Amino acid sequence: MAIEKRGEQALQVSGFEYAPALESTDHVTIANRYGLFIGGSFVEPHSKRYFPTINPATEETLAEVAEADAEDVAAAVQAAGVAFRAWSLMEPSRRARYLFRISRIIQERSRELAVVETLDGGKPIKESRDVDVPLAAAHFFYYAGWADKLEWAFPNRTPRPLGVAGQVIPWNFPLLMLAWKIAPALAAGNTVVLKPAETTPLTAMLFADICRQAELPDGVVNIVTGAGQTGSYLVAHPDIKKVAFTGSTEVGKLIQRAVAGTGKRLTLELGGKAANIVFDDAPIDQAVEGIVNGIYFNQGHVCCAGSRLLVQESIQEPLLDKLRARLQTLRLGNPLDKNTDIGAINSKAQLEKIQGLVQVGLQEGAEMYQPACQLPERGFWFPPTLFTNVSQSHRIAREEIFGPVLSVLTFRTPAEAVEKANNTPYGLSAGVWTDKGSRILWMTQQMRAGVVWANTFNRFDPSSPFGGYKESGFGREGGMHGLLPYLELN
Ligand code: NDP
Repeated sequence: MAIEKRGEQALQVSGFEYAPALESTDHVTIANRYGLFIGGSFVEPHSKRYFPTINPATEETLAEVAEADAEDVAAAVQAAGVAFRAWSLMEPSRRARYLFRISRIIQERSRELAVVETLDGGKPIKESRDVDVPLAAAHFFYYAGWADKLEWAFPNRTPRPLGVAGQVIPWNFPLLMLAWKIAPALAAGNTVVLKPAETTPLTAMLFADICRQAELPDGVVNIVTGAGQTGSYLVAHPDIKKVAFTGSTEVGKLIQRAVAGTGKRLTLELGGKAANIVFDDAPIDQAVEGIVNGIYFNQGHVCCAGSRLLVQESIQEPLLDKLRARLQTLRLGNPLDKNTDIGAINSKAQLEKIQGLVQVGLQEGAEMYQPACQLPERGFWFPPTLFTNVSQSHRIAREEIFGPVLSVLTFRTPAEAVEKANNTPYGLSAGVWTDKGSRILWMTQQMRAGVVWANTFNRFDPSSPFGGYKESGFGREGGMHGLLPYLELN
């Protein structure tokens, strides 16, 4: 009992001392250099250029990765085009077997994938291990099940694959976004060329190896690494039939312009500024956990992060007291430590963006709270941050910060909550915390958000469609809806 009491006290004041619990890296081999994965082999880039990928927690170089130029991208698209003929005509149940096999190998190699994801991206190992990698495996497993059931999914229609899909993904969930893109495309009978983000290419390189291990026919999956320029070559290639993009709204708009008039299919999954709305009848302790998970999960590098907390005025003080106390218990540090809650910021550029917007918040008069925590000397770090005294016109309440920064606003009535929640150019996600089922249903009908979580936040399942409205993009990924962008229905 005494220990519990002391523990409670310690939680409130300075947090527990945890003994380090480092995940081992012995089972992981990262090559010094990776080529491009084209036609089933790793090949030298035509450009002859390579760039380093670093560990954002230490700034150490992990490996060098090829930079694909326009000729490399053309070679990858050609390999995918050649592979398309056999892949699209293959017995669907055989296609399914490859996807099941990939899912199984991801599970078998999950420790390796989790460690590399954490090293390359900075996210806590417990998140790579418990969220990113299992969900990536689940996506392949789920879409494997659809491969031979497409005609049942779309009755009285004849679903046909489109051809070669060009896919561009961001750095916040590298392996998971790869799975979201590749699994439905392959299940529907398409072949793909995928470009991972410049700062997080390594799990895509491991995935290329998994494709070989699964004996996936050559050219069905091709991976071209590089920066934004490589992505733009891919999007612009005339033999690409479908473009799938996840990333910033700014680049999404560029891509939309680039494909306009070409007849290419397009889905865009872009930014967000989600409202996490807490009513006075909500279970407060659970709501606090949901708020923390909503904005501090993955250092806030989450497109659907609950970055605007809308709290009913009558419970503002008790809720914020609990939230501040909870922030003191979050452990920031070595992402490979199994106790770590807040890992490294993904890149220097992203850190500077977060720092810049936090400065703007202070200049505009918002009040900042950060728990006392020591930032490691090397690497890119930002403490969990809470802003109160925020109004809707503040930039920190309007712009996507994509970091561990929460802006708190208040409301009095459900109508005011809806009005404030919808007062954003984005429309990706939202959360509602209340005891009343009828209120949840009413709120979900009023809000322009692709996903609304009730009494939870940041939950994902391969069977559940995900996507946005307004500047958060269009098209859905996940579920049966996620097949549609990869099929022509005659
Ligand atoms: P980007 O939108 O630039 O990056 C997403 C992907 O697109 C990356 O693979 C990137 O390559 C690639 N890319 C960049 N320019 C082009 C282009 N012209 N044509 C085709 N592909 C391109 O996001 P950033 O990494 O620059 O992050 C900037 C901000 O975007 C963040 O601060 C955050 O607010 C937001 N963001 C939102 C995400 C979301 O899921 N909604 C995800 C990531 C960022 P490369 O990585 O090499 O630049």
